[in-house]
Amino acid sequence: MAGPRHILVLSDQVISQIAAGEVVDRPASVVKELIENALDAGATQIDIEVTDGGRQVIAVADNGCGMGPDDALLSIERHATSKIRDVADIERIQTLGFRGEALAAIAAVAHFTLTTRPAAALAGTEVTLAGGKLLEVKEAGCPAGTRIQVRRLFFNVPARRKFLRSDQTELAHIRQVLVVYALAHPAVGLRLVVDGREVYRLAAGATLPDRLREVLGAELARLLRPVSFQGEEVTVTGGAGLPAAARQDRSGQYVFINGRPAGAPVLSHALSEAYRTLLPPGRYPPVFLFLTMDPALVDVNVHPTKKEVRFRHPGQVRDALIAALRGALQPPAPAPGGPGGGEAARPAPAAETQRLLITDLPDRRAFSYPRLPMIPPAAGADGAEPADRKLTTPGMEGQRPDVPSGPPPDSRPAPWSWCRVLGQVGGLYVVLETEDGLVLMDPHAAHERVLYEQFMRQVLARQVRSQGLLAPESVELMPREVAVINEHRDVLRQMGFGLAEFGGAAFIVDALPACLGNASARSVLAAVAETLQRGGARGGAEHWAEEAVAQAACKAAVKARDTLRLDEIEKLVVALAGTEMPYTCPHGRPTIIFMSFDELNRKFGRA
Ligand code: ADP
Ligand code: MG
Repeated sequence: MAGPRHILVLSDQVISQIAAGEVVDRPASVVKELIENALDAGATQIDIEVTDGGRQVIAVADNGCGMGPDDALLSIERHATSKIRDVADIERIQTLGFRGEALAAIAAVAHFTLTTRPAAALAGTEVTLAGGKLLEVKEAGCPAGTRIQVRRLFFNVPARRKFLRSDQTELAHIRQVLVVYALAHPAVGLRLVVDGREVYRLAAGATLPDRLREVLGAELARLLRPVSFQGEEVTVTGGAGLPAAARQDRSGQYVFINGRPAGAPVLSHALSEAYRTLLPPGRYPPVFLFLTMDPALVDVNVHPTKKEVRFRHPGQVRDALIAALRGALQPPAPAPGGPGGGEAARPAPAAETQRLLITDLPDRRAFSYPRLPMIPPAAGADGAEPADRKLTTPGMEGQRPDVPSGPPPDSRPAPWSWCRVLGQVGGLYVVLETEDGLVLMDPHAAHERVLYEQFMRQVLARQVRSQGLLAPESVELMPREVAVINEHRDVLRQMGFGLAEFGGAAFIVDALPACLGNASARSVLAAVAETLQRGGARGGAEHWAEEAVAQAACKAAVKARDTLRLDEIEKLVVALAGTEMPYTCPHGRPTIIFMSFDELNRKFGRA
């Protein structure tokens, strides 16, 4: 891209309009700037060498377009760049750099040697500086491409040297930079040598899945779902982590905009929105998202290191991202070790109150029973109504599907095509066998997921059925709860709650959403009030109040029930398999933990 264009010094007028600021504050930022330059130069191989955490030596060599002698000398001037000529160019920028400051800034605070040669030139050029002073320019024999060596970083800026951390820490930052660009450009070969030892060698010409596996390890790669979404203005591709891969910080989240690693507040909002019903607060899924859009729709001239960008239409980006993630997270089938993935994310140990009694569990040897097909093949070949399967609420007999037009019966297969209930362990967890392996199901979490989706479908279709209570209940609430219930009365009415004020802090509840069955009005209303109070400040989602009510109501409804029969458990399993997001409850706890036969075989040494 820098190819045929030559370097020019930008005019003062252009300079004044470029986001200014320091770009070199630690070894990793030097590595970042040099990698970006190499990529802009069209390199397919980049070799990085550091010693002493980058304090002594940072060298970056590439096989890109190289520079002739004039450009080599100009490149170290401030505001000298081949990538833009005027401000309007930034609007259609395709390169990572454009400010023309990095080389000058680095050369000013180190001993700096630039060796470079365009492939077509016979001789190369070597330029040496120290502390920004030009020491020597000479012809040099060198490979085509560019090598920049930075020694004794900050030798003349003790204040900044003082802020450097241990070698380990500086190295960790450097590796992080490398990982980011390795993922952004899987086809580019990258090598990192630390103190003479090779720590990364990533082959050129790799595909993204290969690169992900190579950089992140097979374990994490297995917990990623492919993302592929084409929006009106934005295309989103990459990978989205299953809940089981979530971490306590955002360190596993990578977002690239037109190949540029960058963040924007709207991106993190969209991420938490997309995962809201999949993960509890404070857990962050790993994601690798590549957003592609017309460069004119992104402003990259916001932050000197271009860490943050601004979108012309943030709403579109947000919607595209949410749609992309939701699409990716409704998985076709549990990949081996998939949902709940073996070692990851365990549910909290069952509390005493969470015990569940299955009254007529079979006392029979598992192997003596044929495999029962519990779910008709996804196409519904044997005549079973797929919509029916989706809407049957287990444990709520006599209640037929309320919404005739659920989502269109899709071709998405359930997480298993057959399955049988083997038993129960720990007084709570249900043990299932499927064609792929062993499943442990938390029936409370599963029931909650099923109820929640059924409830939300009714809400979105504006067809919530209300069920009158034979004996209206009077419910006392705290003053703040009363206030929040009153504030959201319309929503509650729409959702099937029959409420009358009874003076003071009491309500008379004479109807509840029908799908909650015979839950206690008190527990449902208290849970709803609590959620509304907590969520009141959250903006953004159109249906947040409804969703909050649905979540809280389901939670309360499920708690109220502590006995299920085997056939009810079977219905629950079927209903769970038909949900949109069968792997977690609406609060993000796992509903099932899956262990594939492959995994079992490996654990038993039968690989
Ligand atoms: P910017 O990347 O913002 O243009 P830099 O100071 O990083 O500014 O680089 C200045 C110029 O030097 C670039 O515009 C480019 O023309 C040239 N340059 C820098 N690094 C390389 C490289 N590795 N290969 C070829 N040209 C380079
Ligand atoms: Mg640059």
